[in-house]
Amino acid sequence: MEDRYNHLNKFLKNKFKERTLKICIDGSFTCPNRDGSKGVGGCIFCGERGSGENTKCLSIREQVENYFKSYKADRANKFIVYFQNFTNTYDSIENLKRKYDEALIDDRIVAMDIATRADCISEDICKLLATYKQKYYVYCEIGLQTANENTHNKNNQHITNNDFIKAISLLNKYDIDVVCHVMVGLPGESHEDIVNTVNLLNSIKYSGIKIHSTYVIKDTVLEGMYNSHEYEPITIDDYIDEVVYILTHINKDVIVHRITGDPPKDILIAPSWANHKKIILNSIENRLKNDNLYQGCLFGK
Ligand code: SF4
Repeated sequence: MEDRYNHLNKFLKNKFKERTLKICIDGSFTCPNRDGSKGVGGCIFCGERGSGENTKCLSIREQVENYFKSYKADRANKFIVYFQNFTNTYDSIENLKRKYDEALIDDRIVAMDIATRADCISEDICKLLATYKQKYYVYCEIGLQTANENTHNKNNQHITNNDFIKAISLLNKYDIDVVCHVMVGLPGESHEDIVNTVNLLNSIKYSGIKIHSTYVIKDTVLEGMYNSHEYEPITIDDYIDEVVYILTHINKDVIVHRITGDPPKDILIAPSWANHKKIILNSIENRLKNDNLYQGCLFGK
């Protein structure tokens, strides 16, 4: 079946010639939006795990070792270490190097994926990341979420579009691939915000995108807003419309890393459809097929 958009798995298979899986790492980082240096409390949608899995209190090395001892390691021969929780470039250069090196303990690891904030990318951090490029495919995930700075403020994100553009150009300078995160259904956002967000993305050089719906999880500010009816999650139909808009309007060469969220089931409050990944993926695929749409077919329109 012909692909309607550039799936990550296919990209990885082409790049590494075989199936390549991610090992999610909690590097015990914090976030400048939590420790007071930029803000306190974090983004209104961010939970206690900081957008990551529940990886208990193990050292980085133990997390990787445990992964390789588990059945998961039998499912592939090549792996990406994914520093996922909180802001994974928010530390001294020495500590960053120590933490990254601690994960790179097995020859089957072929890539490093570092999730971070735009205001936590500096020239020195890019230089450090670039040192790993000889041996590994290195890329950074940067949370934009939306191009609407009023929404950033309302979300307590403490980030600007200028921070984002500066981080992208630094990463471009060191030839480090960038995956941009976009959220659909943020409080107060409309289709116009999605259009503006896509326009911003189309003005920069980036290699991948992660799109996911805004979902409410336990013990977040957004949960309070949801309970007091200040926030209503987007419907699945509207979400599908917006994802189709994004896919058809971004560059056809961008790698699509994700088009659904992956909320932890045990702490998801709403919307309940957010956990039905297969239904969402099939609905998007069917819409693209029925309307004969492809990634990038409306780029610049
Ligand atoms: S920047 Fe990321 S880790 Fe920090 S509070 Fe926001 S979502 Fe959480």
